[in-house]
Amino acid sequence: MNGYSSKRILVTGGAGFLGSHLCESLLSEGHEVICADNFYTGRRANIAHLVSNPYFEIIRHDICFPLYVEVDEIYNLACPASPIHYQFDPVQTTKTSVHGSINMLGLAKRLKIKILQASTSEVYGDPTVHPQSESYWGNVNPVGLRSCYDEGKRCAETLFFDYHRQHKLKIKVARIFNTYGPRMHPNDGRVVSNFIVQALKGEDITVYGDGKQTRSFCYVDDLIDGLVKLMNSLDDFTGPVNLGNPDEFSILELAQMIIKMTDSKSKIVFKPLPSDDPVQRCPDINLAKENLRWKPEVKLKDGLVKTIRFFDELLNRKKHAI
Ligand code: NAD
Ligand code: UDP
Ligand code: UDP
Repeated sequence: MNGYSSKRILVTGGAGFLGSHLCESLLSEGHEVICADNFYTGRRANIAHLVSNPYFEIIRHDICFPLYVEVDEIYNLACPASPIHYQFDPVQTTKTSVHGSINMLGLAKRLKIKILQASTSEVYGDPTVHPQSESYWGNVNPVGLRSCYDEGKRCAETLFFDYHRQHKLKIKVARIFNTYGPRMHPNDGRVVSNFIVQALKGEDITVYGDGKQTRSFCYVDDLIDGLVKLMNSLDDFTGPVNLGNPDEFSILELAQMIIKMTDSKSKIVFKPLPSDDPVQRCPDINLAKENLRWKPEVKLKDGLVKTIRFFDELLNRKKHAI
């Protein structure tokens, strides 16, 4: 049990990329897990291996509507996370962050339990401070294509802190930076999945803009470890706290690395940069280091090996299914 007592834990968005890894990790710690998901971007395949576990339960539910369950803790991860997915129905994206958070906060308030919010580095927008620490208030366009996600997540943070101040609710807010790994959706347009799939299929690698924009990539296992440590941290530590890997790479470097690692014949092609695409992004993780004794352990190359293996198997399965 690693020192924790067994709890019944609600994971919203539990059928998604991060949520499925979190459900798996909590079950392995001996907890009971309820996964609430409307399968908007999540897939049953992500949690198929957990379904036979008697301590795992799935509820098909949209968190924009009230949810009455009896649990000991909530991880609120429900929200489409890739630009293609969250821009597909932007009004629903904002509703999920705002109405969804209100419902999950109401649930936590009724039960007097702790609730963790999966916030994002997008709250910093196109940052003018580098690296980004939690004290930076951000540079966000309120009316652009990314605003439904960025402003929705900012409003969710506001709600979490107002429920904390007004109702004395125990909250934890994680600002997650770009995370990658097995079970990313192959068509969600995120850079790591896009480049790996393109490289494995021998298709052109689509670098947006000049590829000089930077991101820092955290392997999923490190991120889940950070989320669980945050949930179990001292009550007076609410965050917001950055969780991400501070090793920064340009998008062009990432493309070259993936081509080399997959031994691919793919060529790099340059496409227009999407609007409001942040120029650089890198977390300052000192707060997490101090308060959670957490830092990422997995190097980009090692994480990419595992992620490439996942997509290789996925594409081979699809080929043989045809
Ligand atoms: P994902 O799209 O794979 O997972 C999101 C899950 O939420 C999906 O299973 C989806 O079906 C579900 N969902 C969406 N709207 C819902 C609703 N209204 N009700 C119930 N379920 C709903 O994305 P992910 O990468 O696993 O991200 C999980 C969380 O972490 C999101 O809140 C995201 O904003 C946050 N985050 C992720 C990253 C990252 O790099 N992966 C970075 C920053 C923040
Ligand atoms: N809520 C929920 N489950 C619960 C308790 C509340 O989904 O177990 C929802 C309910 O729809 C409510 C929202 O959470 O509207 C906010 O609850 P809160 O108690 O903060 O406000 P109020 O009930 O006054 O709207
Ligand atoms: N990107 C790219 N080619 C792609 C997909 C993304 O060059 O096929 C770029 C994108 O413009 C951004 C970076 O990679 O600068 C990260 O994009 P992603 O959508 O993964 O995450 P976010 O922009 O939310 O950090």
